[in-house]
Amino acid sequence: MNIGICGYGGMGRHHGTYLIPKSKQFKVMGVYDVDTSRQTQAIEDGFKNYETYEAMLKDENIDVILIATPNEIHKDLSIDAMRHKKHVICEKPVTLTSLELEEIMAVEKETGQTFMVHQNRRWDEDYLVVRNLFEHKQIGDVFHIESRVHGANGIPGDWRCEKKHGGGMLYDWGVHLLDQILRMVESPLKSVSNINSYVLGHDVDDGFTSLLQFESGVMCLVEVSTTNFIPLPRWYVKGTEGTAVINDWNLSGEMIKYNVDAKYVAPTPIKAGAGFTKTMAPLNHGSIIKMELPSPKEMPVSFYDNFLESLEDKSKIIVKNEEVLEVMQLIEAMFEAHHTNSIIHF
Ligand code: NAD
Repeated sequence: MNIGICGYGGMGRHHGTYLIPKSKQFKVMGVYDVDTSRQTQAIEDGFKNYETYEAMLKDENIDVILIATPNEIHKDLSIDAMRHKKHVICEKPVTLTSLELEEIMAVEKETGQTFMVHQNRRWDEDYLVVRNLFEHKQIGDVFHIESRVHGANGIPGDWRCEKKHGGGMLYDWGVHLLDQILRMVESPLKSVSNINSYVLGHDVDDGFTSLLQFESGVMCLVEVSTTNFIPLPRWYVKGTEGTAVINDWNLSGEMIKYNVDAKYVAPTPIKAGAGFTKTMAPLNHGSIIKMELPSPKEMPVSFYDNFLESLEDKSKIIVKNEEVLEVMQLIEAMFEAHHTNSIIHF
């Protein structure tokens, strides 16, 4: 399959020089970018440069268009490509509203092309460790999940700081973390509350803290921040028999659970601050065991290989548009929760 890349910035180039070459079934045919310095970069990387998007779409050798531009133009570029009989891989966030995604889905149906969103963080190993814990109950039934990404670089000084381009952290990172949670918990959402942060003074959120409650009883705290000089762990997960922490993308962390073989020993009260407590005393040595984190749940295929197999059989597609739509609708509910200072019930 020959791919044409639209938008050759950080992510477009990452696809072109790293992700696409990893899959032997795909080849980059050429690049289109509005910025001449990015065109030069594409030529230096060995790719054909198309003078216009139209020229790339009219090239009959191209089967797939990859969209890696700022967010607000994903919809028009994707629809244009499908109308030119190209399949589309689109970067996240797919669009700025759920209605725009529904427009894309209607054109996908009408043209018979395949449209798939690059929700690549479903393949993240840290997430797949948590999925393993959730599904195989190594710490009992998981009932509380905290998923965070914390940085201290602010929002990178480009279009991501501007509302008109679909900037802000809820669209940028929120879309990944929420997608991960919805695909893992697989229970209807009961409610969501959310507070965006605007401490850096942009017209978009520089972070958010949200609480999701599912009908199954699972509760998730999802947080993104760009102002944390000391980051909290990437994941904090509580089950009925233990707790797991994953600190970072290198999978450092630990899991502590009840030692079912040990005799129960009541906690010894401790002095704590100006007080005294038994409730918050550490568990007695022997009644708990420390364990290595489990290995990541295995994904059957890579993103690109799954895209290829779904061209033959759409039922095999891993990132389904209906699932992406659910995330977009959740993001809309989270903006509403922030603006109305209320809990949104589903
Ligand atoms: P970037 O600013 O580095 O690159 C965007 C490129 O698009 C620029 O080179 C710009 O000149 C070009 N462009 C702008 N308008 C265009 C148009 N009309 N036609 C063609 N090219 C145009 O941004 P980025 O970090 O590469 O982000 C691009 C997309 O990739 C965004 O949607 C972003 O959310 C997504 N992204 C995804 C991940 C991921 O892990 N999935 C990571 C980073 C970025």
